[in-house]
Amino acid sequence: MRYAVVSDVHANIDSLQCVLSSIGSDDALVSLGDVVGYGPNPNECVAALRERATHAVLGNHDLAAVENFGVENFNPAARSAIGWTQQALGDDAKRWLNSLPYELRLPDFLLVHGAPVDYFEYILDKATAARAFERTDARIVFIGHTHIAEYWDRDDEGNIGHRHMQQGGELELEPGKRYIIDVGSVGQPRDLNPLACYVEYDADAGRVRWIRYEYPIAEVQRKMRAAGLPRYLADRLSAGR
Ligand code: ZN
Repeated sequence: MRYAVVSDVHANIDSLQCVLSSIGSDDALVSLGDVVGYGPNPNECVAALRERATHAVLGNHDLAAVENFGVENFNPAARSAIGWTQQALGDDAKRWLNSLPYELRLPDFLLVHGAPVDYFEYILDKATAARAFERTDARIVFIGHTHIAEYWDRDDEGNIGHRHMQQGGELELEPGKRYIIDVGSVGQPRDLNPLACYVEYDADAGRVRWIRYEYPIAEVQRKMRAAGLPRYLADRLSAGR
């Protein structure tokens, strides 16, 4: 089985379309949440994932869009974008987002937006990763949330390894190791590479690939400005931060 894993699409339909047109029709499509927020096309992104995704979990921006949850912790640009998104989202799209679970457990992996159990925690260092491994027995945990493509592994003795995937790359899964795979962001990469990112997981081969790809950034920025979304949110797409 082969999975394409996307996260943090953030209403960027132009980037999501690039993923949809490059994956195989037999590939399962997994969404790790934050389908909406920041970008100009929330309804289109919900519709596309609703139709194509085989597995999907809830992100903090999705929850903020449907029930204003956690908005007090957002920075001013994010808060303004969520207000815009709440107005723009249709009832059907809201219902679908509201139906998503916080986690999905498949036999050999776990899907969450940020971290196991504490779903919206940010895993940004080895200490947080080590605690996250303690909270699940899943061999592989797929996460997004940070918009940074990277992974952590843990061996039998509890040693934690880490690698950034800023330029994309491949990981051969080793027996005896467990993994937290951060798939990066389709809609708003923040690891100083403006190329978007998703992950291809080949379960039979035991291989994970981070794929960095171009999408029409200028077109998305034009739509964001036309929609009146905060200028800073459009500008940051060119810098990948
Ligand atoms: Zn996000």
